[in-house]
Amino acid sequence: MVGACTAGLYFAGLMARQGYQVFVCDRSSEANLGRRYDVIHIRQENFSRFGIPEPKPGDPDYVTVFHRSIHRSALDKWPKNHYSEVLVLRRGSLMRRLAGWAREQGAQILMETEFVSPVFDAQGRLSGGLFKGKHGEFQVKARLTADASGIGAAVRTALPKNYGVENFITGPRDQFYVVLRYVKLKNPDERVEYTQSWPFYKTWIAPQLKSDGAIYGVGANLSFDYANRCWEHFARRVSVPAHEFEYIEQSSTPYRRPPYSFAADGFAVLGDAACITNPMSGEGVSYGWLLCAITAEEFGRAMRDGAYPEREKVWPVNRRYAQAQGASFARILAVLPGAVTCTAEENDYEFEQGIIFEDDKEKGRGNLVLKLLKGLFLGKLSLGTLKKLAGAVAAGNRIYKHYMNFPEEPGGFEGWVKKAEVLWGKTLMIADLAEKDFAQMEGET
Ligand SMILES: Cc1cc2nc3c(=O)[nH]c(=O)nc-3n(C[C@H](O)[C@H](O)[C@H](O)COP(=O)(O)OP(=O)(O)OC[C@H]3O[C@@H](n4cnc5c(N)ncnc54)[C@H](O)[C@@H]3O)c2cc1C
Repeated sequence: MVGACTAGLYFAGLMARQGYQVFVCDRSSEANLGRRYDVIHIRQENFSRFGIPEPKPGDPDYVTVFHRSIHRSALDKWPKNHYSEVLVLRRGSLMRRLAGWAREQGAQILMETEFVSPVFDAQGRLSGGLFKGKHGEFQVKARLTADASGIGAAVRTALPKNYGVENFITGPRDQFYVVLRYVKLKNPDERVEYTQSWPFYKTWIAPQLKSDGAIYGVGANLSFDYANRCWEHFARRVSVPAHEFEYIEQSSTPYRRPPYSFAADGFAVLGDAACITNPMSGEGVSYGWLLCAITAEEFGRAMRDGAYPEREKVWPVNRRYAQAQGASFARILAVLPGAVTCTAEENDYEFEQGIIFEDDKEKGRGNLVLKLLKGLFLGKLSLGTLKKLAGAVAAGNRIYKHYMNFPEEPGGFEGWVKKAEVLWGKTLMIADLAEKDFAQMEGET
């Protein structure tokens, strides 16, 4: 098991609980584990759903809880409320909680130990890896090598081209660049107790460690430079609570379609290494836990009585994940570029009418086509915007249906991939739009 963060530790615990001998390695030191950024938000319900002990007030990882989040239009209107309990947690301490839980289940964790390369048996099947630790290089033989090494996907990208899981590198255009400004609020009446976001600008304001502080966040494709320009664009148009700047954190998450298959002979890919973050928010922890839970069940079953987990035996991982979550995220990935290419006024109309951005109470209400036609008739949406939006929604629906029909057996996979490629080929790339927007911003200065 490579990578001892949210995905790797959870998966390790699930496998160890089934009686397997599990060895997890991470190149980081124990003290630095999970310290890529300070504060993480996770919906409270996920802890009971995935059987992980929930952080409570007084625990080192617990900061606070908030109960709603709001999306607002480009003109800062039409708040769309979403209600659910979200825990604000210290990321480093959360990793210690997960490591403690994984050890309790029987997993062994080896820090400051790096995965170097995969090892194959005489039949060309993955049979473990070469690692480098404080005392030099050593080999580990394993029936399953799981990759939870984050966006770099150390094991997946080192597999041969046709091993059964794509070995692409998640390059700069396929990443979502997040910049978090930690600020101290000047006015005690403006405390930030829940998250508000402005999808048009890709920005949000959220609670952080201190009750008189906030995180002013922005996340955009392409580069940190572009993300910063998006924040400047936002700050010129929407007024945020008066504040003093404290410090900045920046890091990136995957933003691209995941590999078509997550499992191969003796191999599974999990978490950010599998590119399964939510395209709407960039969040990934609980979605990663879902793939871990499915993968642990299927590999756990396939490996009973000493069996080697062959691709055919663990195939249900792919279909189960697609139906539980992958199809919905694929649809969002296809729809978003069409939904965000519009003017601020058009975005405001979309919010007013609950087009794409809906309140909890508006879910499933009204007819999308009628709302769009009304917008065109009233001059609130241009024909170009309407075409892009309608095209993206149609493409998203087709992709959703295709993923829901993920083949039950590996036999149908080749044909399924061919059709998926055609469908993705008809969608817009958000990085292309970001590039165009960035060039325009540069031209304006
Ligand atoms: C700024 C920012 C804020 C975010 N906020 C949230 C949030 O609030 N809520 C949420 O759900 N998601 C959030 N996300 C997304 C979330 O961080 C990721 O989806 C999640 O951390 C992925 O977990 P992971 O275990 O797959 O990978 P990672 O957390 O990236 O862990 C990978 C581990 O693998 C190790 N590793 C890498 N290569 C090797 C190697 N060769 N050998 C050994 N070890 C290796 C690394 O040291 C690391 O510890 C945020 C992302 C960013 C960038």
